[in-house]
Amino acid sequence: MKIAIEELAGCSGCTIAVLDLHETLLEVLKEAEIVYSPVIMDAKEPPEGIDIAFVTGCVRNEENRERLRKIRSRAKILVAFGTCACYGGVSGLSMLSSNDEIFKTVYRGVDTVKEDGKIPSDVPKFLYRAFAVGDLEKVDYYITGCPPKEQFLRQIFPALLKGDKAELSRKSVCSECDRKMGSVEGWKLKRRYEGIPDREHCLLGQGYLCLGPVTFGRCGAACPKNNVPCHGCNGPSLDILREPCRDLYNMMVRRISDLTDIPEKKVEGELYDVAHTMYPFTIGSLIMEDKENSKIRDLVKERSG
Ligand code: SF4
Ligand code: SF4
Ligand code: SF4
Repeated sequence: MKIAIEELAGCSGCTIAVLDLHETLLEVLKEAEIVYSPVIMDAKEPPEGIDIAFVTGCVRNEENRERLRKIRSRAKILVAFGTCACYGGVSGLSMLSSNDEIFKTVYRGVDTVKEDGKIPSDVPKFLYRAFAVGDLEKVDYYITGCPPKEQFLRQIFPALLKGDKAELSRKSVCSECDRKMGSVEGWKLKRRYEGIPDREHCLLGQGYLCLGPVTFGRCGAACPKNNVPCHGCNGPSLDILREPCRDLYNMMVRRISDLTDIPEKKVEGELYDVAHTMYPFTIGSLIMEDKENSKIRDLVKERSG
């Protein structure tokens, strides 16, 4: 079994997550040979005859597009690995600025730039927007997470390599969370830095914007268990994905309204910085942008290329 790991626009954290498998990686390597991974070996081009290709990062420039095309043509199975590959991930937040603004800031607007302030012409051309891998090529499996969590990969890797189906949870983060619902009287939306949440009760009920109800689980509710609201790094829950009329924004508004008896319009008035609070991992996904209630269309800066 030959496996490859390709890097597109991302941070390489997903590949490091594979190394985090520690001794399980030794078991994996009994079944499979890593034939290509620019982060962990000296390899520039994917070979022919790959059995499973894991693609990390989103597609943001022409080089990413070409690399994706090549690895798809050379692999029997292609796995979108990590939330950038599945939904655009944090790289998709670049769509809040125009390409011109991004290049001017990177090459002229920060203290470490070269003095001449020239924007280089020999870097890969930016596409007009970010794309999730599945927006452009056929994907056989999606593994979400920023990065995918170790306990989940321990289950999925051996099954994937043997061609078996792993029995995995399909529930949301809330279903993995052990917090209880407390009183929600006088509910008011809080910023993360406001106060210290109590450790027993639901963070959303306490006023913190916890995306657990709309986020795919399989992380063991890692953040709420450590007193931090979920910010949605595993991507949308299955019911959001399946239903065209369900979107992260409108389902969170509905959930808060149900919980607090505050009318939806008033809840919407309390929300702030919708791009970073509701869509930090999904703004670069056409599937999420095309939903009828999506707010992504209003947030994207550049519309065509
Ligand atoms: S999903 Fe997260 S860890 Fe993986 S490449 Fe993107 S930003 Fe990095
Ligand atoms: S909203 Fe957050 S804190 Fe509340 S149950 Fe869901 S995951 Fe837990
Ligand atoms: S709780 Fe939310 S943000 Fe934290 S790891 Fe799980 S999905 Fe990601």
